Amino acid sequence: MSAYIGIDLGTTFSAAATLDETGRLVMIKNPDEQRSDNLLPSAVWVEGDELIVGEEARKRHQNKSSGGVASGDGAAGFKKDMGDSKMYKLADKAYSPTDLSAAVLKKLKMIAEKQVGDVVEAVVTTPANFSNEAREETMAAARKAGLNSRNISNEPTAAALYYAATEGQNMRGTYAVYDLGGGTFDVSIIRIDGENIEVLASNGVKKLGGDYFDEALIELVADKFKQETGRDINQNPDNLDYRLSDAEADKISLSNQQTVLAGGGESIDGHIIKVTRSALEEKISSYIAQTEMLCESTVEDAGLTMSDIQGVLLAGGSTRMPWVSRSIQKVFGKEPIVKANVDEVVALGAAFYVAYKNYDKLTPTQQEFIDSVIKKGGVQERTSKYYGIISLEYDEARETAVLVNSIIIHKGEKIPCSQTKTFFTVTDGQTSVNCKVTESDRPVTHVASVDDIVVAKKLLGNLPPNRSSGQKIEVTFSYDENQTMRYSFVDIETGLEVGGSVHPTKDSGDSASDLGKILVD
Ligand code: AMP
Repeated sequence: MSAYIGIDLGTTFSAAATLDETGRLVMIKNPDEQRSDNLLPSAVWVEGDELIVGEEARKRHQNKSSGGVASGDGAAGFKKDMGDSKMYKLADKAYSPTDLSAAVLKKLKMIAEKQVGDVVEAVVTTPANFSNEAREETMAAARKAGLNSRNISNEPTAAALYYAATEGQNMRGTYAVYDLGGGTFDVSIIRIDGENIEVLASNGVKKLGGDYFDEALIELVADKFKQETGRDINQNPDNLDYRLSDAEADKISLSNQQTVLAGGGESIDGHIIKVTRSALEEKISSYIAQTEMLCESTVEDAGLTMSDIQGVLLAGGSTRMPWVSRSIQKVFGKEPIVKANVDEVVALGAAFYVAYKNYDKLTPTQQEFIDSVIKKGGVQERTSKYYGIISLEYDEARETAVLVNSIIIHKGEKIPCSQTKTFFTVTDGQTSVNCKVTESDRPVTHVASVDDIVVAKKLLGNLPPNRSSGQKIEVTFSYDENQTMRYSFVDIETGLEVGGSVHPTKDSGDSASDLGKILVD
């Protein structure tokens, strides 16, 4: 037995799914008796040589984070740091977010193999607004986990694929996918026509989701304790009992009822705190406002108006919070479509995508199922960021050359895509060119601080010393279907070249004055 699996590598929970032999999308079951769903908490606990992944790790970590004593260290929420240089020190060993994500993926692979046999290939999903580096690190984590993973997919696209696959004829038109999970919020505008699925626009916020609502609830309980008792909740160390796990449970209860007694009604220093749903909504109102603005700007980015959106599809556990439906109603003028388990849609959609990518190797029944949803080559994604280079432009008014960000690949271009632009050296005898690649959410041209947007630096050196200025430097950016951006800078006369794929700059040592060595075309 062998299978292709789709994996939703989430900030809080991860899950896997596959297309079974009868052409049905099914979840890989979580065998952990501590959980009643198919979700594997994205949490790692290290104790001595032992590395635990999942519910047990999550519990121990939450307990320790709230002041509990334990031999060992844990981590959760590390997906937020994918692509950053942050390291986690667990029981005296250093782990990168990629190492920790690899541990989660490895556990999912092991669980899946027990149920479906060999995992031939996997597609792992990432938030739509993940940086290049974070995507590459996700691929690296998959390899480290021993997964054969050629492709990654955007979470909202996977969710749309699942809805398209299961809703069949009912799902034709332009939809918004609203994905609010534990750590990130994404919104995508997607067109489904029965043969193709095209992503028209995608935006996201990296640090917005259920984990932040839990923290807000902890603050709210502390505020209320202070208001009602005049004391600081942390004053009494025995009293630091309103832990993250309590907050999450209370937050979930507030999705079904208007009030809860914090921590299940246990007294905190002899005092019982009552929290209302509306107080929590008030506390997270700036997050809610951010989601609404993002929905509006994404519809605009797609060149559409709200009336063009036929329906709003949900993904992510936090969409169960009652304010989400109200907010969607307010922004889009319609109720969201609630027809699936929002915790599972991304993994199931990724399972569809990996099967679709391996169409020729599927059984006729599986192929028939794929054909009923999209035709070959029918998934069309777009770039989610602007990519450019730092160059010099002559400013007529100021009669001087200024540094500008020259955009080479625009956000929203159909992928894969490739663009080449020619630039020129500036000084006679110039023997090197500082190549600085930028990544930005907006098409910024004039930048106050170059290092805020520069994500890769290379020196194109050893150029012949005796040439005049105006030598051609050809810059090519290629964006592949995994949303990895590769760049090259070529000195046309000599053929000398530097290039790579996008990595964040680790140093910011260059001063602005020695940057500008190529002129805009
Ligand atoms: P996901 O990453 O999509 O699995 O979403 C996980 C987040 O959804 C966590 O922060 C959960 O606490 C949150 N969540 C799950 N169910 C509910 C619910 N009924 N009400 C509020 N939040 C929920």
